[in-house]
Amino acid sequence: MQASNHPTISTRFTLRPTQVQVDLDALTRNYQSIQAHVGGAGVMPILKANAYGHGLVRVGQHMQAIGAQMLGVAYLEEGILLREAGVTTPILVLGGILGSQTPLFLQHNLTVTASSIEKLEFVEQAAAAQGITAKVHLKIDTGMERIGVHYYNAEGLLEAALKCKHIEVEGIFSHFANADAADLSSAKLQLERFAEVLRFYEQRSLPVPMRHMANSGAVLQLPEAWLDMVRPGILLYGVYPSREAGRSVAVEPALTWNSRAVYFKVVQAGHPVSYGSTWQSDHPVRVITVPVGYGDGYFRAMSGRAQVLVGGRRYPVVGAICMDQFMVNIENDSAYNGDSITLIGGDGDQRISAEDLADWAGTIPYEILTNINTRVPRVYLPDGAPDTETA
Ligand SMILES: *Cc1c(COP(=O)(O)O)cnc(C)c1O
Repeated sequence: MQASNHPTISTRFTLRPTQVQVDLDALTRNYQSIQAHVGGAGVMPILKANAYGHGLVRVGQHMQAIGAQMLGVAYLEEGILLREAGVTTPILVLGGILGSQTPLFLQHNLTVTASSIEKLEFVEQAAAAQGITAKVHLKIDTGMERIGVHYYNAEGLLEAALKCKHIEVEGIFSHFANADAADLSSAKLQLERFAEVLRFYEQRSLPVPMRHMANSGAVLQLPEAWLDMVRPGILLYGVYPSREAGRSVAVEPALTWNSRAVYFKVVQAGHPVSYGSTWQSDHPVRVITVPVGYGDGYFRAMSGRAQVLVGGRRYPVVGAICMDQFMVNIENDSAYNGDSITLIGGDGDQRISAEDLADWAGTIPYEILTNINTRVPRVYLPDGAPDTETA
């Protein structure tokens, strides 16, 4: 048996004609724009869900290289992956955790979100057992009703934290439910509730831990919420969280998604295309097949609505999007096997954005980006090295 016949990881990357390209320099410029906008506040890049589809490890390493003081992820596993890749920057795990996970946080030097007294006690016990001091950020629920102790019950958590001998309360935070909306009244109410909770420290003349609350929406439109640190996710990747939140910070999309035509044919009038035979033309048309499907995160819900760019022009996706392929009607124009197809990005003076795909799929750009499957290789500019995580 000859193992040498197996393709190496790198040839597999170059073999697949579909790629996501991530421009690391664009990420740097976005980070710097956000930093300049929020002035004295720190910036915690949010890297959850494979860095919004951009590749957790490469983006994490890059954020460390450009000087981010703290990184934010949702899950313990994401933090561990970053540590295993050599990222040493402090990492806050924002999401809810199980008590049984606490020892792993401490082993990997990850900062825990303490969202209840019970969770705090788990951390205290694990830290005492390991003879160390654990860093935690306390989570206050000011109106999201997701995780965190309610603002009207927060005093108990803050008191309990002071008594824990093996815990350092490094930060305290909350999360907005509506900071990307046109009407900011509920966001402002949440911010007031958070300020009320923070009076605990003032009243006791205690130093206030690092306060943070602002997601991308609040970075864009709620300066009073920037506090000591902001937590931008989608904005860092160059995508705006909503139309309503405006564009007070200039950012550019860091991600493009391209493929190549793998088949060309003429489809006769009245001959339907794809599963379910939902689309047909009343005249002969030229149709190309693109090797991308919903199994890559190109949502089936976009069938009959999506467009792609071929040779700098827009063409409609026709028929149902399959798991691994979809068809494009180029009418009478010409295209050849191997021609570049742009799913997200620019070609000539045309551009397709993650927001466009979200509109076609009836969702938000967050869901588009985070669903680009790991089977699509990520290639990083400027150096162009493939992301071996997707192997
Ligand atoms: C996802 C998330 C963010 C970032 O949100 P964006 O809208 O992408 O900026 C910030 N904080 C918490 C707690 C989150 O879960």
